Amino acid sequence: MKNAECTPLTPEEEKELFGAFPRYLGDKEEALARKFFPQYVFFSAEGKNVRRCICTGCMEGFFVDKAIRPDFFRIKHKGICECPNCGQRAELLAMGKYGNFDSLRSHERAVQISTYKDWLLVQAGYVFRWFDHEDLGGYIEFSPSKRYAFAPGRRVMWKTGVYYSFGHDFWPDGGWDKADRIRTPFQNRAYEVDAAFWPIGVENIAESSLRYCQYGAWFDAEYGGSLGGLDFDLEPFRIAHLIRYLAEYTRRPQMEFLVKLGFHQVVSDLVMRGKPHKNILGWSAGNPADFFRLSKADFRLFKDIRCDFEELKGFRTLRRQGLVKDLAEFVRLSDGWGNGFSLVRSGAAQARVSLERAGRYLKSLDMKPAIAAQLWLDYLDAAGKLKYDLTRDDVRMPGDLAERHDLAAASLRTAEDEKAMRKYRARYRRLVEQFSFTADGLSVVVPGNIQDIVREGRVLQHCVGGYAERHVNGAVTILFLRKESAPGVPYVTIELSTENNCRELRIRQIHGYRNERDGGPPPERVHGGFLKLWLDWVHEGSPRDAEGRPVVKEVTAA
Ligand SMILES: [Zn+2]
Repeated sequence: MKNAECTPLTPEEEKELFGAFPRYLGDKEEALARKFFPQYVFFSAEGKNVRRCICTGCMEGFFVDKAIRPDFFRIKHKGICECPNCGQRAELLAMGKYGNFDSLRSHERAVQISTYKDWLLVQAGYVFRWFDHEDLGGYIEFSPSKRYAFAPGRRVMWKTGVYYSFGHDFWPDGGWDKADRIRTPFQNRAYEVDAAFWPIGVENIAESSLRYCQYGAWFDAEYGGSLGGLDFDLEPFRIAHLIRYLAEYTRRPQMEFLVKLGFHQVVSDLVMRGKPHKNILGWSAGNPADFFRLSKADFRLFKDIRCDFEELKGFRTLRRQGLVKDLAEFVRLSDGWGNGFSLVRSGAAQARVSLERAGRYLKSLDMKPAIAAQLWLDYLDAAGKLKYDLTRDDVRMPGDLAERHDLAAASLRTAEDEKAMRKYRARYRRLVEQFSFTADGLSVVVPGNIQDIVREGRVLQHCVGGYAERHVNGAVTILFLRKESAPGVPYVTIELSTENNCRELRIRQIHGYRNERDGGPPPERVHGGFLKLWLDWVHEGSPRDAEGRPVVKEVTAA
């Protein structure tokens, strides 16, 4: 395999390693896995004043007497209770409501972590829990579909092929294939930022050859939550990115000192976004200074003073443009700026003035330097778009920054509006020709610009404002139905379909005030006669007389 990320193994090695994966969950692991699921207390009535209960949290069966726990008897089926035996919060479920308990079957994404020789083994898949009349504590089963083995310098992945047989999929024994890359075990669901999963055996990382990988410290820095301690046993939480983390660590041991020195965001870029920043970082280096491509003295300076990767990137950019002499100067100039320094850096880079001049300029203005820095950056941004001459000092560092900022921002808004309007003008003329129409005291009016549509939505309190840009660029067609006596006053809004053939055009939506939520009659009924007249005319190809007035075949009274 070319460029394979995975390490080649001899058939014997592969067989041995593959055979080392646990085939089931140990008792301790299973007890942990039970905590991944919502807890239930099942109950059935034994006479009027006694409930027989089984709790999935403590796995106990017991009886509860109404005289002793009257509070527990006030809770009904699907209410939230505290288990009278163990005190855990649980959902109270009446056994009698379930025939076979199939509706309570559920699964959770999980990984099981173990060790074998100098390998760290991880298998990923689903933990299933289900119930039947025999066991209301719940059955737990782990069914892995991806397997990974990691050791310093080495990494392997296998996945199960899914075989189809008469429409049912099943995983036959031996149906595992070796992969060429280490792929993440789970896909993000639509609502997820990270494809998170539950870890089983996370403490085994500390026993393995990858014990210095700092995954726990990195996870804590990125997400907050300390992994593997006693607290975790009591209240486990989902983790993410473990597989890519280990895959990267097996060939980039520098991740250890990166996390320890506080550069966890460098590791995040690598693991979560696949960005190694090779232009700034030397991944073959054996010590931190070489890794950051700094002299020993500069690295000490950098580390002692702040240790921030974004700043290092900022320094490199300015250094390349010759806007700062060296790291010592950079560090000296950063003094006193705090978080605002990143703005000063960006401003200097954008205006192409030295970092020192940028700092002096911002401090010379009659406002708080951090505010000046933000204003300057906004101004430079607008000025760049408006193509101002930023080589002139009076343009790139104006003495009256606040005023110049407001002027540039206003010009930019006008320029952007004008650009949109120039594009819309031709479409507007076409729409007027095709759709504007007056009869029976009503008019169809074409929106003149974005603001018209936004205003329509605001006045009528419906959502047409969100369609404004799409109308202007032609993705949807919005029209206004107005009273002839008050053509400027929002009344009813129409969304027309967008077929090219005028005979196929139809009304997609038509709404008046608040989408008729107040119970008013729908406008398509109130103005049915007019709408038919108008749409028939549109279907005929919008004929007009010499004065531009619509020509309708026969005028019917509304
Ligand atoms: Zn319990």
